[in-house]
Amino acid sequence: MITRYRRRIPADVARKLRQEAGFGCAKCGHPYLEYHHIVPWRDDQHYRVEDMVALCANCHANIDVYRADRQYQLKYKPKNIVEDRVQGFLDFDKRDLIFRVGGNWFENVDTMIQFRNTPIVSARIIDNQARVSLNLFNSAGRLVLQVVDNEIALRASTFWDFECRQGVAIARSATRSIALRMDFQGNEASIEGEIWMGGKAVRLGREETSVGTNTLRNNRIVGSRVGIQIG
Ligand SMILES: [Zn+2]
Repeated sequence: MITRYRRRIPADVARKLRQEAGFGCAKCGHPYLEYHHIVPWRDDQHYRVEDMVALCANCHANIDVYRADRQYQLKYKPKNIVEDRVQGFLDFDKRDLIFRVGGNWFENVDTMIQFRNTPIVSARIIDNQARVSLNLFNSAGRLVLQVVDNEIALRASTFWDFECRQGVAIARSATRSIALRMDFQGNEASIEGEIWMGGKAVRLGREETSVGTNTLRNNRIVGSRVGIQIG
């Protein structure tokens, strides 16, 4: 018999599995996911959401010790939904402090964007690796997503989707707008999103940063403690 390559899981099935699992492994909560067939692919070539579950690579490799009924239990009581949190380490291989944030370039800037006294986007080198920190607030001024030296934490119930894959992390809010996109593939480490500072919408777009009618683009800020100060 010739083994046929599986086609890629359809994007909407993957998203539904992420949503029901609270954007993490149903067993341990880790945000880098694989999609497991509870009804095995070899028996039935399917992509049915009701017979699949999101798991991390580790738990996926060991899931066969559980019978199907235990696998369905994990599916129906995923860790991140029970705890209403997503937590994990953003695993990017990046060794410099050069970032493109909202269409502006920052090189060796401690805090790239600051609102009043609160750092919104910052980075530093620890053990030869760039570590990013973020504080993202909602329109009511509540912290909804935090990254501390690449360790991310958010509430599962606040977001419509959150996806981590090699070099990329994307959080979408309930309105499906992109609350945060970190793309650290290749050379251009970019951070974009639609965020709030002091009740004001701030758009960190691909080409520019806009706050109300003010826009900032193509700035290159090098070797400073604070790059862009807002408020
Ligand atoms: Zn796991």
